[in-house]
Amino acid sequence: MSEAKDKVDSAAEAFKVDFASFSRLELDGLDGAEEKLRELNALKMRHTSKKSALADSKKLIGKIAPEERSEFGQLVQAVEKEILAKIEDVETKLNDFISHAKMERDRLDVTIPGRRPRTGHLHPITILRQKIEDIFVSMGYAIEDDREIETDYYNFDALNIPEGHPARESQDTFYTTEGFALRSQTSTVQIRAMERRGVPLRILAPGRVFRRDTPDMTHTPMFHQLEGLCVDKGITMAHLKGTVTEWLRRMYGEETRTRFRPSYFPFTEPSAEFDFSCFVCHGTGQMDEVGNSVVKEQLSAVSDQLPASRCRPCKGSGWIELGGSGMVHPNVLKACNVDPTVYSGFAFGFGLERMAALMFNIDDIRHMFENDVRFLEQFK
Ligand SMILES: [Zn+2]
Repeated sequence: MSEAKDKVDSAAEAFKVDFASFSRLELDGLDGAEEKLRELNALKMRHTSKKSALADSKKLIGKIAPEERSEFGQLVQAVEKEILAKIEDVETKLNDFISHAKMERDRLDVTIPGRRPRTGHLHPITILRQKIEDIFVSMGYAIEDDREIETDYYNFDALNIPEGHPARESQDTFYTTEGFALRSQTSTVQIRAMERRGVPLRILAPGRVFRRDTPDMTHTPMFHQLEGLCVDKGITMAHLKGTVTEWLRRMYGEETRTRFRPSYFPFTEPSAEFDFSCFVCHGTGQMDEVGNSVVKEQLSAVSDQLPASRCRPCKGSGWIELGGSGMVHPNVLKACNVDPTVYSGFAFGFGLERMAALMFNIDDIRHMFENDVRFLEQFK
């Protein structure tokens, strides 16, 4: 009996030593608590499983003399009860701590400011194009869009640029397979629109055009043109001048003036290049007389190379050259089955990049196609 009792005592003592590290629990984190719980489970196995010292003691109950068996049995049970109670107590504390810690970790803090998604914005070319479109739509123009790969016929022949015509070479077109080319001007849309809609018509055709230019500060092989066309009975050069002037006044202010200089284009006759009075110096060519001081400050940084009094956008001339225009050539009307003895029309076109560069004070048009967000974000 005493030998068996010693076995139970030593099992109880071994548990006490092993359990010492759990008697004063100090928890500071979820990971630590989970580690402690694993240690506790291992300890439970060591002291309560079938292979434990306590289990061995239980097996002795049957071998004890009958008069002492009850006393010994009660002793074993008391020790087992105490061990299990202590383990359960710590187990409960650990589980409570872990579930609370997990809840804290996963809690949604509605007071933390949200992360704002990055929003895009329009490209400077698009901003300008839409502004011009709005003005022309209010004057009764329809916006026309068409293909960028054209046949020789639409890109040249129908525009009064026959084979062998010098303009055909000078434009240095991108030819693809035989008979096809990337359009070198948006005038192709004039032909297609007249064929499809018939006359009278008023259209505005913005779009990409392609020429074999080496990129530099003012040239890129792809750029945007915007072309206007008006065909009706009795249309004259006066309508052209009135329309272009009205558009530029709405863009740059009532005081804006326009100037038409004789020129040559195969698809118009007569032809004229048009300029408008500088919107920075108001046509004076002098920086000193700039009414808007903000504009002056913006420009002062880049105008160091120029005499201080000379306006930079117009190079001191007071005029900004913008585009080409003229009365639609009778051959172009004929190509679209429009009778030039009954109908007449005017057309004008210009490059959007050049206008955007002036408007947003951009010194190199290549910036507009490099997709550098640091540049683009300035035009929000
Ligand atoms: Zn100027």
